[in-house]
Order: sequence, then C-alpha cells, then structure tokens
Amino acid sequence: MRIAVCVKSVPDAGSARRIDGGTKRLDRSADGVLNPYDANAIEEALRIQEATGEGEVVLVSLGPEKALDGIRKGLAMGADRVVLVSDDAAAGSDLVATSYALAKALERENADLVLFGQQASDSDGAVLWAAVADRLRRPLISQVAELTVSGSSVTGKRQTENGYDTIQAPLPAVVAVSDAINEPRYPSLKGIMGAKKKPQDIVSLADIGAEAGRAGEAGSKTTVLTLSPPPPRGDSKKIEDDGTAAEQIVAFLEEKKLL
Ligand SMILES: Cc1cc2nc3c(=O)[nH]c(=O)nc-3n(C[C@H](O)[C@H](O)[C@H](O)COP(=O)(O)OP(=O)(O)OC[C@H]3O[C@@H](n4cnc5c(N)ncnc54)[C@H](O)[C@@H]3O)c2cc1C
Repeated sequence: MRIAVCVKSVPDAGSARRIDGGTKRLDRSADGVLNPYDANAIEEALRIQEATGEGEVVLVSLGPEKALDGIRKGLAMGADRVVLVSDDAAAGSDLVATSYALAKALERENADLVLFGQQASDSDGAVLWAAVADRLRRPLISQVAELTVSGSSVTGKRQTENGYDTIQAPLPAVVAVSDAINEPRYPSLKGIMGAKKKPQDIVSLADIGAEAGRAGEAGSKTTVLTLSPPPPRGDSKKIEDDGTAAEQIVAFLEEKKLL
C-alpha cells in the first residue's frame, strides 16, 4: 500500500510572526519546521506500514526548496521519501492554487491513501484536505481520532459534539487525522542520520503536469486586501502567587461581575 502524507514547513511557533507589508503574506524567510499536526499523520502512516509489513510512505509538499529542512523530520521519523513541489510560479498560492498543485502531485503518486494533519499551524485553515479530496474526486474522512485500514476500505472514528461518528470509505481515499489520534514518535539518532540519504525529489509545476497559470498568484482566487494587528487587550492585571493567588483571582472576577 502506498500512503502519501501531505506535510507543510511552517514558521517555528516560538518565532515572532511578521507580515510582509509589500506582499501581504506571512514572512516565511526564517527557517521552517515540520507543521506539528503533520507529525500525527506521519505517525499514523508509519503505524499502518508497520502493521502490514509492506508499502511505502511518501511525504508530499508544496513550498520553497528550503522547506526540505523542516520536512526532513518526517524522514527521520521513518517516512521513505519526499516529493517537494517547488517553483517560483507557485509563490503566492492561496487555497485554490495550493489544492490544485498538491492534487497534481498526488495524482502522479497514485497513492491508495492520502493523509493530512488537521490544520497547518501558520494559516490554520483546516480546509485544504477537503479541497484536495474534491479535486481528486476521492472520498474524505476528516477529524479522525481512530483509523483502521482493512482490505479495500478505510474506517475513521471522528469525535463530534454529540459523540462519535464511525465512517467507512473505499480506497483510494483522503483522511485528515486529528491531533488526538496518536503520540508521534521522536526521531531516533539513526533516523536523523539516515534521513539525509533518503530520496528527496524537488519537482517543478511542469514535472507534475500542472499549468503554471493555475498555481501561484495567477491561479489564486482570493486577494488579501488589508491586514491589521489584533486589538489591544483591555485592562489586565498580573497576579503573582504569594499564597493568596486564588483569593485574588476570585476577588478580581467578582469585581468584574463575572462571578
Ligand atoms: C492570497 C494568498 C496568498 C498566499 N501566499 C502564500 C505563499 O506565498 N506561500 C505560502 O506558503 N502560503 C501562502 N498562502 C497560504 C496558503 O494558501 C495556505 O497555507 C494553503 O492554502 C493551506 O492552507 P492552510 O495553511 O490553512 O492549511 P490547512 O488547511 O490548515 O492545512 C491542513 C493540512 O494540509 C496540509 N498542508 C497545508 N499546506 C500544505 C502544503 N503547502 N503542502 C502540503 N501539505 C500542506 C497539512 O497536512 C495540514 O495539516 C497564501 C494565502 C492567500 C490567501
């Protein structure tokens, strides 16, 4: 079974976020790291591969060449290879353009199962998997907290407000896993050392049969008009715990008529 896991290199959560005023895009010039939510998808793919004792786990991404540095963590965890779509013409891709380019790359991989994380920690759209599944015309199960692959079908248990939904779909299918599905493994030293030697293909839009005019700014259907910082927080009070913190918090909440 071939499992493709879509992964994104994102700015480190610890780094300050900066919007480029000229392009109105997130400044992604700093080193990126593997989107933490994608580690859950990679972990799940590796568990399926280990349980069946066969198959291949390929990481698929759209981003600049330096995105490989962050994505390599997935190889260190145990994935077999990376396909990174990197092309100047793909810069400025919104959801529509990103889903187009990724779907083209995934068509070429012809995977039985395509896995996504629940969201990317920089844009937090939590929607790309739906757009890609639609483009591939494949069934989608999202927010999956338990996943079973058996024969020619996949079953996902989703947590909802009212309990759980258990949904089955025929393969090939697209699944977006929730971050509750597993505890991603830490890459071993051997895995880290071996990661650099695993195949890491950087491909252009032309290589995957994508039309340049449908990716990047040219293929995007949305335009960012304005960006503004969040409004300043209202009155805040810092409480140091000198042993009476609980009482001080209660007094503060009573004063604000919140209790
Ligand atoms: C006008 C505009 C211009 C933009 N320009 C850029 C740009 O130049 N560069 C840029 O990086 N972003 C750009 N973006 C943001 C980009 O469109 C989104 O990052 C992308 O659509 C994915 O959405 P998301 O990050 O909210 O992912 P989500 O929907 O939150 O992600 C869900 C899952 O999808 C997968 N995923 C997300 N992104 C990728 C990816 N690139 N490759 C593989 N898997 C992925 C991950 O598994 C993730 O867990 C732009 C957005 C707009 C509106």
